[in-house]
Amino acid sequence: MNTQNARAAQRAQVLRLLGLPHAWAGRESYTLLDLDDDGLRFVTLWSQWRSDPRRCARLHVVLVVQALSLASTLQGRLLSVLPEHDHALAEQLVKQWPLSLPGVHRLEFEALNVTLTLAVGPANVMLSRLTLAAEAVILTEAQLAEPALGQGIDTVGLGRLLQAETVLLACATRATWPAWFETSLIFHEQTNHQLEAGLERPEPTSPYSVLRARASPRVLVGAGSDTPCYSPPALRHLVVVGGGLAGLHVAQALALRGWRVTVFEASVDQAQLQSSHLAAALTPVVSRQDDQYARLSRAGFLRAQSRWEQVPDAIVTACGALQLQRTSGRIVDLNRIAEGLGFSEQFMRSVTAAQASELAGMPLTRGGLYFPAACRVQPKPLLDKLARTEGITCLSAQVARIERGLTNWRVFDQEGRVLTEAPQVVLAAGMATQQLLAASGLLAIGSRLASMYGLGGELTYVDQTLLAGGPRCIVSGDGYVLPAVQGQCVLGGSYLNEAVSPEAVALARQENLERGAQLLNISLPPSADSQPWLPGWGGQRAVVPDRFPVVGRVAGSAGLWVATGYASRGLSWASLVGDLIAATLMNEPLPLENDIIAKISKT
Ligand SMILES: Cc1cc2nc3c(=O)[nH]c(=O)nc-3n(C[C@H](O)[C@H](O)[C@H](O)COP(=O)(O)OP(=O)(O)OC[C@H]3O[C@@H](n4cnc5c(N)ncnc54)[C@H](O)[C@@H]3O)c2cc1C
Repeated sequence: MNTQNARAAQRAQVLRLLGLPHAWAGRESYTLLDLDDDGLRFVTLWSQWRSDPRRCARLHVVLVVQALSLASTLQGRLLSVLPEHDHALAEQLVKQWPLSLPGVHRLEFEALNVTLTLAVGPANVMLSRLTLAAEAVILTEAQLAEPALGQGIDTVGLGRLLQAETVLLACATRATWPAWFETSLIFHEQTNHQLEAGLERPEPTSPYSVLRARASPRVLVGAGSDTPCYSPPALRHLVVVGGGLAGLHVAQALALRGWRVTVFEASVDQAQLQSSHLAAALTPVVSRQDDQYARLSRAGFLRAQSRWEQVPDAIVTACGALQLQRTSGRIVDLNRIAEGLGFSEQFMRSVTAAQASELAGMPLTRGGLYFPAACRVQPKPLLDKLARTEGITCLSAQVARIERGLTNWRVFDQEGRVLTEAPQVVLAAGMATQQLLAASGLLAIGSRLASMYGLGGELTYVDQTLLAGGPRCIVSGDGYVLPAVQGQCVLGGSYLNEAVSPEAVALARQENLERGAQLLNISLPPSADSQPWLPGWGGQRAVVPDRFPVVGRVAGSAGLWVATGYASRGLSWASLVGDLIAATLMNEPLPLENDIIAKISKT
């Protein structure tokens, strides 16, 4: 047998030992947690799923890896090892393969019926941060060794991710499962199988085999939280209150998974409030410690880019963003942050003033960080496109309150009429979410939602000819300037605490102009300077004091969710939050680390 055939035989053997295809036959979903793959087994499994008429409806594979190989390396390896009929699948995987950045990445295939979740980082850390319920787990021999303090996997963390009677496999030189696994797992059955074709032995003399077991966790926990909230197909109707960035992204995430979604939007024109918000920025946040906020922002940034793949370039424009070194206020050394994090240059790199000038197409005086994949986004056409997603019905109505019926939530208008009812409702009405909860008797005193407040802000629109053509990429630091849209550069974004008066708005727009001119290192355009009232847009941000969004189930109200508190980063949170809620309702592996979920889901 040649090497390629022998490896194929081994892969087939592993799938047989998992009990496939019988184990997924006729099921709604099947989840495999694999700590011993970097894409190859995933393609084999996906290929088998495609050709099996009795396959599960949805296949979820989760890989835990220390770091990801480059897409080109993966491509070379997959194409050299896989049979030709799987090459098209391998190419699809390579196309979506992300940069090796720490955290959880979600890849989607077959109209979301096949997902691959990549948890990148040390296995013990990532296992403790994943939320899923696996039907099968594949481990490496290294993970069977009893962990030294803080190293290796711990079975308590592993047990949390298993269903009852999960199949465990490990290719190993040892003959039995280690006794210490039994501290958190109950073994029902253990077997040992010779590896077919006998390839890839770590030492030629040692027997190399596959350990197989059926095991259950000693304590069974539902995926996502203590009360599972998986929705069976018959109950897949969702009502969303609010048709802004938050609401329409939740609606899209569920509609893509086959749900019927009804969105109620108060303004006459769908998302009218964003209609004169000409352009906004999608840029990640970085921090020296790669803290929770930075990790959440990176996850949201990457999710938005995947989710918007099909959105035309004119709406989501990957123009790149410069974050210039600040010279006043809270100064952090951006160079040192970049060095310390060591992320791929395709995600972030530090640049000198000369390099920054080259990127912006304007002579800038400061260097800083450059994010090549950052985007300028036009919110209004983006919302219009989301609202047209198949499965979403947008209705114009102001929701006044909601009430729990016997099985459904009832949604009322201001006249007290029932607009509709549904088993699941998401309140995504920005600042008005607080009022809706209060009117429904559901706003808990002392909660994060109760602490949410409105923070106004202004953008200033300046003809690009007055800004030497405007920058080619987003330029930010103290404020920001976006590349021109329809001949206008957007300068922002101010913060207005006091009640908005015409004078305060005029002042805020003038300040935006001054900060923008400073960023671009140009003198204030005289014609703009002399105008008493600069054109622009004003809006309100819903802000929780900790600045994290508020996302999740309302405590004690099964079927009721909130998605609000997006503050200044609606574009960063919206897609990820949509998928987080949808994944919870569909019992998918969650696309975000659970320490961050715990933070944002405190409602
Ligand atoms: C000046 C400024 C600049 C900004 N720049 C950026 C930027 O560059 N990048 C970025 O990511 N973010 C930016 N933001 C933030 C971004 O706009 C918000 O985070 C985002 O709009 C929040 O979306 P949302 O859907 O939660 O809320 P909203 O946009 O407020 O949408 C809520 C929707 O709910 C509807 N609604 C309210 N009450 C009801 C009801 N009772 N019944 C039915 N419908 C209801 C409203 O009509 C509205 O359409 C900026 C904000 C401001 C103010």
